[in-house]
Amino acid sequence: MRKPLIAGNWKMIGTRATNQALLEAILDQRYLFKGVDVALFPPAVYLQQVQTALQGTELHWGTQNLSQFESGAYTGEISAAMCRDFGSKYVLMGHSERRCLYAELNLDQHFLDHIIAEKYEMALRFGLTPIVCIGESPEEHALGQTEEVVIRLLDTIIAHQGADSLQHAVLAYEPVWAIGTGKTATPEWAQEVHSVMRKRIASHNPEVARNVQILYGGSVKGNNAGPLFAKPDVDGGLIGGSSRDADDFVKICQAAR
Ligand code: PEP
Repeated sequence: MRKPLIAGNWKMIGTRATNQALLEAILDQRYLFKGVDVALFPPAVYLQQVQTALQGTELHWGTQNLSQFESGAYTGEISAAMCRDFGSKYVLMGHSERRCLYAELNLDQHFLDHIIAEKYEMALRFGLTPIVCIGESPEEHALGQTEEVVIRLLDTIIAHQGADSLQHAVLAYEPVWAIGTGKTATPEWAQEVHSVMRKRIASHNPEVARNVQILYGGSVKGNNAGPLFAKPDVDGGLIGGSSRDADDFVKICQAAR
């Protein structure tokens, strides 16, 4: 039986004061989502604030990205050891906002998949749980290439680190056309893609496939989370915008129970 996980990606939103109010509101209502793993992903400068607030509770936290390098002259980057230093359990990687908005867009997507596989290896080496975001762009979606795109990154990770490594990881299907657009995937669509991913892993290691958590991300709200999380291969969500609204976020966490 897979435990549901809700990951709240705060993106580049918030101040110390608004974060504090949000953290307190979530903590006050956490009895409503007992049995659900919840992790928050603040901008790195607020990691310590989140650690201080959540330490000693059953909630977790992590960073929105990490460097594929261990340490050194990589200005602006964050290492896996630094994430650990602030008590992170998880780390996001491969988020489409990094793929689309930064230099990462200029990279060949196969090459980018290799960088994500390197980040994945680095996270595992430092005892962090990678949450690997995988999803097709609107163009790829229109061309019917969803399966090809999600399998490509999955296969790259399996080729680098082996399917067994996925027992220490989480996957997040995040169709780019659904992120921050209000166009949530239907529960049936999400189920279909999650099932393709799980079957691919099962062809290498059925036990790992049964246990790996696969999250859905893309315009999940309190009022649409229930039917998505009810699907057998959807094990929770990666939540962006709604993770900054305490009441909506708590509703989403409750829907995963
Ligand atoms: C995200 O940032 O990963 C995300 C899914 O965003 P949103 O929920 O706002 O679509």
